[in-house]
Amino acid sequence: MPRFGGPEVLELDRHHPDPVPGPDQVVVRVHAASLNHLDLAVREGIPTLKLTLPHILGCDAAGDIAEVGSDVTDVEVGDRVVVNPGVSCGRCEYCLRGEDSECVEYKILGEHLPGTYAEKVAVPARNVLKIPTDMDFPQAAAVPLAFMTAWRMLITRAKVRPGEDVLILGAGSGVSTAAIQVAKLAGCTVFTTSSSDAKLEKAKALGADVLVNYKAMPWSKAIWELTGKRGVDVVVDHVGEATFKDSVRSLRKGGRVVVPGATTGALLELDARYLFWRQLSVLGSTMANQREFEEVMKLVFMGRLKPVVDRVFPLEQARQAHEYLGRGEQFGKVVLAIDTPD
Ligand SMILES: [Zn+2]
Repeated sequence: MPRFGGPEVLELDRHHPDPVPGPDQVVVRVHAASLNHLDLAVREGIPTLKLTLPHILGCDAAGDIAEVGSDVTDVEVGDRVVVNPGVSCGRCEYCLRGEDSECVEYKILGEHLPGTYAEKVAVPARNVLKIPTDMDFPQAAAVPLAFMTAWRMLITRAKVRPGEDVLILGAGSGVSTAAIQVAKLAGCTVFTTSSSDAKLEKAKALGADVLVNYKAMPWSKAIWELTGKRGVDVVVDHVGEATFKDSVRSLRKGGRVVVPGATTGALLELDARYLFWRQLSVLGSTMANQREFEEVMKLVFMGRLKPVVDRVFPLEQARQAHEYLGRGEQFGKVVLAIDTPD
């Protein structure tokens, strides 16, 4: 994209030079890239994020290895891979502790680095993971950011336990379709919300137990009644400003709310009296470390967790794909398919 703005700023640049791999990098020939809400925010322009234009969007990718750097030994040209979009320095105190996503220089493809809406992208070799032969590229590209986020926020940060009630707001988002499955796999009772009965039925098929259509009744009221005025153990709120107050009110005493994003606005309202008297925890979470990435990918490869692809657009229709995601009509991931000439 040559400038910041609406979906209309996205254009195909056929003359962009191919990336060259550094010694510890590989170049992935991208066959599929998936969209994330982050892409829309970067496209609009994030005030604190200084980018050189033109910029290539896109965090998630799957493809095959086109080139390997001189020091790379464990990946070969032609390997089919999926990409971990988080790039860490490997040297800082957080990296040394294994907490890659807390790295002081943490960067995300398509946000701080050239992204995956491209025929080729260069990434550190440690960021690619081979995919099973029966997994297609659009499915694989739909996985990393959504499942990494869901896994870390629920398993590592919120530490969900079997039998707990977990409320996941907005059933249709990519992160939600991952989170519903992760919470279910962890033995939780999963509550989810939507204004669409069709989306709620799809969420049920993924394992959601309690469906709340907030067109019929404010969802926080519904949760309060459905839990016998107890509240849920954990709320996942990536919606932000529009929902946070109600998320906190939906928690039981000692409950936790986990915030992996804020699509409707970043300033959250929190009554401190409510926080201390009810002994609540507010947990931020972002992306995942390498171990969590590999853990969740293993479960995807085993078929225990399933990517949900809503729709595939050709790369040439990135603008339409952004408009579609912006309208929030999707259930699961929106993917770009990229035809790469050999
Ligand atoms: Zn680091």
